[in-house]
Amino acid sequence: MDSLGTRTQDWSAGAPGITWTKGEVLRRMRCDCTGKFVSLETGDPEEQSADLQDGVIALEVRLTRNCAECGEEKKESTVSQEEEITDKIDAHMQKFHADVPDAERPTLSLSVEYSTEEGGGGRYKKNMIELISNYTVTCDTCTGDDELVAEGSITDSCAAGEFEEM
Ligand SMILES: [Zn+2]
Ligand SMILES: [Zn+2]
Repeated sequence: MDSLGTRTQDWSAGAPGITWTKGEVLRRMRCDCTGKFVSLETGDPEEQSADLQDGVIALEVRLTRNCAECGEEKKESTVSQEEEITDKIDAHMQKFHADVPDAERPTLSLSVEYSTEEGGGGRYKKNMIELISNYTVTCDTCTGDDELVAEGSITDSCAAGEFEEM
């Protein structure tokens, strides 16, 4: 799949970079792999659920902060995202399936690609983990260029210091 949608980025708090929050420095993790304090890095986002119902995309994604030495998961956070795409679905149905009763509307498929970025280190020295979810909704009946119903990007940030220790 191509990279999709528009990516919104807000680095107003400072340029991207790895900066520990004060709280996280004080509670830095010791890992069994080296017996020393280790740095944490963000793991690959893990999809818990991805639903499209009544025109609303609902995502639940687990993020982890892992030992930079051995990759062991040390902290976690679950992010819930929602986006309504009713207008885009209605537009597609009116354009391609206007003669079909609502109950017999074609099935739509949702696919999402997740990525993360780290930002922060500005005025408030907060290390923010940004989850970027690029979604595509396609019509199972239409083909070619016509099958694309909606695409976009949902972005949420959470402070690294607010991840829960595992
Ligand atoms: Zn480790
Ligand atoms: Zn269609």
